Amino acid sequence: MANAGAQNDAGTDYWPIHITRSDGQGYPNLDHSALSPNEDQDVTQQERWEVIVAGHLQNQVGPKDDKKQYKLAGFPKGYELRCAVRKDGGRDYYLYGHPLGPKANYRTPGEFALHALWLVSDSTDNSQCPCDLCPKYVERAKADRDRSLPPALPPPSSSAAVPASRPATTTPPTAAPGNPPPAQQQLAQQQQQQLQLPPPGTTGWTNVFRVGELVWYKHTAWRLGVILAITPKPGIPLHPGAPDSSYHFTLAPLGHALLEQPSLVKDCQSMRPFLTFSVPHTSMDELRDQTFDTVNWEALAARISQDPDPNKREIGRQMLGLEASKMGARAINDTFSTFDLRAQGTTADGALHVQHYGGVYLGAEMVRVGDPVRVVATPSGSPSQQQQQHQQQQASQQAALPPDANLVMLVTEIQVLTPSSLTGDARGAATLQFKGDLYRAARLSTAHPPPPGTIPSGETLGPAFAEELATRNAIDKESNPDGGNADKAVFWSWVQVGAQVLRGEQDVQGRFYVTEKLMSVIDPAKWQEWVRRGRLEEAPAYLNNRGHSGGGQYLGRRMGRKAALGNAVGVEFRVPPGMVEN
Ligand SMILES: [Zn+2]
Repeated sequence: MANAGAQNDAGTDYWPIHITRSDGQGYPNLDHSALSPNEDQDVTQQERWEVIVAGHLQNQVGPKDDKKQYKLAGFPKGYELRCAVRKDGGRDYYLYGHPLGPKANYRTPGEFALHALWLVSDSTDNSQCPCDLCPKYVERAKADRDRSLPPALPPPSSSAAVPASRPATTTPPTAAPGNPPPAQQQLAQQQQQQLQLPPPGTTGWTNVFRVGELVWYKHTAWRLGVILAITPKPGIPLHPGAPDSSYHFTLAPLGHALLEQPSLVKDCQSMRPFLTFSVPHTSMDELRDQTFDTVNWEALAARISQDPDPNKREIGRQMLGLEASKMGARAINDTFSTFDLRAQGTTADGALHVQHYGGVYLGAEMVRVGDPVRVVATPSGSPSQQQQQHQQQQASQQAALPPDANLVMLVTEIQVLTPSSLTGDARGAATLQFKGDLYRAARLSTAHPPPPGTIPSGETLGPAFAEELATRNAIDKESNPDGGNADKAVFWSWVQVGAQVLRGEQDVQGRFYVTEKLMSVIDPAKWQEWVRRGRLEEAPAYLNNRGHSGGGQYLGRRMGRKAALGNAVGVEFRVPPGMVEN
């Protein structure tokens, strides 16, 4: 943490700041020369760096109306400013010590100030540092980790109890068949360890907001934006499972790049997942029946800028931004883009190329293998005769389903299918589908439990499933999950209603959010009411389905999230370190 200390140990004009945490490595034998106290330029430059970095810290984390001038009381331990003397006698300065390695350096105090800000925050996760060196450091650590893994990750083997009806069944990819048991054990351990760390771009498996997601944010009215970065709030101790309220969210407003709207920082209480509201239709006649890509935004902006009245110009500009944000959101919602390719191969008949991914930006949301998603009970599409049989089987299996049951798929595979005959850009014509077991949350009677085998243990389904059940049982006044109190005759459980089924993109409605997390963000008062009453309602009723929020013009695969956002945002979107779009 940074502490402003006594005035007298850093000269008369500046208050000293001590950065007490350091990741400096104190490398021996660095390039260039150490600074000399007898060289005026060196002394001046050292002070310049210390003043600029301290000024940044004061700006970002100091009290608002603090008029004092600050200076670092030295660089964090293990960092060293060094000097290169040019042929013409000029001097260049570099700050060494970052864990990336002895050759890595910061060239300006502004570059290092970003890292210093991270050092004084509570984050110990380098992927949350906005400096230039940390992303490379994280990337390398990941590459090192990957090298110790088998070359490609085989998808989980399918027990295929329920044959898939639609879309097409695929054979497992032809990558890395069986590994010797020790390697598998090691892999399982590593996967488990990785499960405990939040996946890149998230702050945990059960939190609501993720980097790159489309959200609503409150800015007098509700506006649309994209999450660029998530950073811990200063001064709040982070622990595994810290909720969304522990973080700040940097948002790029949706609109059009040519409007150059500045990014802003919000907290989760002024944000909503995209699927909580519907996007209103355009209010400008000339934009009706158009899409974001067909509108000539430049011409519209030019026309507005010709208005002689500056007030009208400003209003016109805001109107344009609003319309662009609505159309942009619909366009983004109608795309998907993949990341973290795990394996690929072809179907048995060679007709389809199959890629298995670790995650996908599905319209507004980020979905990863291991996430729960909301899906329809019966897949859509026009089934063949054989598929009809499968559907009938499925229908009879699901006959016992309450009509309002919310089906949740635990995603174990994210597949992209492309006709093998297509290459290059044509690969954009791809089909996305999800595979996994199907569950519903049910309030069951201890007297009449369902057949054995249909109730999985919450632990094995991952954090979101476990957290949801624990909450439901804790809140339900009649619930008796431990069997201790005979008066309480019910308990909440996940009940499996399908094994390793497939759902096409159009049949996935969106992420399943843990009820408490979602309602704490979108309607804390309602959540408290449910807790008091001892019964919660089904939170998905408060969400739209993805298909209902789009422009009706399906755009399909985009090569990366940046491409999916297109000109609807004015800043360059970068996926967090550790995620590889492909
Ligand atoms: Zn850094």
